[in-house]
Amino acid sequence: MEKTFLVTGGAGFIGSAVIRELIHNSTHRVINVDKLTYAGNLQSLITIDKDERYSFIHQDICDYQAMSSVLAQYKPDIIMHLAAESHVDRSIDGPGVFIQTNIIGTYTLLEVVRSYYSSLNSTDPEKAKNFRFHHISTDEVYGDLNNNEDMFTESTPYSPSSPYSASKAGSDHLVRAWQRTYGLPTLITNCSNNYGPYHFPEKLIPLTILNALAGKPLPVYGNGRQIRDWLYVEDHAKALIKVAQEGAVNETYNVGGHNEKQNIEVVLTLCDLLDELVPTVENNAVLVKSYRDLIVYVDDRPGHDLRYAIDASKIERELGWSPDETFETGLRKTVQWYLDNKSWWQAVLDGSYQCERLGVL
Ligand code: NAD
Repeated sequence: MEKTFLVTGGAGFIGSAVIRELIHNSTHRVINVDKLTYAGNLQSLITIDKDERYSFIHQDICDYQAMSSVLAQYKPDIIMHLAAESHVDRSIDGPGVFIQTNIIGTYTLLEVVRSYYSSLNSTDPEKAKNFRFHHISTDEVYGDLNNNEDMFTESTPYSPSSPYSASKAGSDHLVRAWQRTYGLPTLITNCSNNYGPYHFPEKLIPLTILNALAGKPLPVYGNGRQIRDWLYVEDHAKALIKVAQEGAVNETYNVGGHNEKQNIEVVLTLCDLLDELVPTVENNAVLVKSYRDLIVYVDDRPGHDLRYAIDASKIERELGWSPDETFETGLRKTVQWYLDNKSWWQAVLDGSYQCERLGVL
């Protein structure tokens, strides 16, 4: 049956992948609520934004009245909550906005949804029975692992290290409390590092690709031995939609790609792919033989987590989800996407993507 999905943060990296997937591969209706911070980019939705099943609402999730009106107007069957501040380095430089959006914003949304769900229970019990609030979170809430420790499972105790992961951990706790105290039907997913098309070029993979193409240094934190578990963003989007529709109510699912890689391995693989696909680059007018020559080691991030590794066996076993891409196929697709979509990232680099934001104000 056709449903109305309300996606918060749908102009971001993962939210836009979820919306593209829903519009391209289902008949559901999608309402995208996004504040359009620096990370929100409506150009990431250009392939679906004319579809009559899609609507965009420029709104801050921290605004109780406005969010109540949105829910009253669109009456969603499923809410997928992705709106967040998401970059660890920015959380170290300025944690305030992370507390505001990730904790206060999630709290505000939970209160709006609590009231909406209660009115649904009296006006449309059938719809209330199937309603779900799906909170999208990160594996970073679990802290980090040393090289010999077992992977994170859904029952690993929380131990966040950065203002970002602490604010996400706080939001996860709020969601569980609203489920337990008020009976809100919730789902939580905790996912590992994503990569893929439309990724804002402050994150490791797009930053490395774009710096390399410009012949600029490729910065690697510390000794580059930190391990992340990488998942192609479209695989994550499919997992999220599956959980939202088929997940057991009030459960948590870890999502990951079984791709543990050291940061330096990721950068070296990108250099090798670029050497193959775009063989020459000028670096200050000197011809660089390999993009590997552009790698520079920079001071490590304070409190940098050593290793993340996700045990995704629950979602695989219970919901039959597994990623389509291996790290090798996903990374090759990603590099090719950046080569083919210069206008998207050039608008991000020169700031003109934010003109779109002015257009909707
Ligand atoms: P992103 O930074 O690319 O996008 C966030 C979106 O939220 C942007 O469009 C932004 O405009 C919007 N937003 C921010 N504050 C808002 C507010 N107050 N009201 C409404 N909209 C607001 O983030 P992402 O990488 O797409 O991550 C989405 C979610 O997935 C986040 O909750 C993040 O914690 C989680 N997550 C991300 C990763 C990853 O690797 N990127 C991994 C696991 C989980």
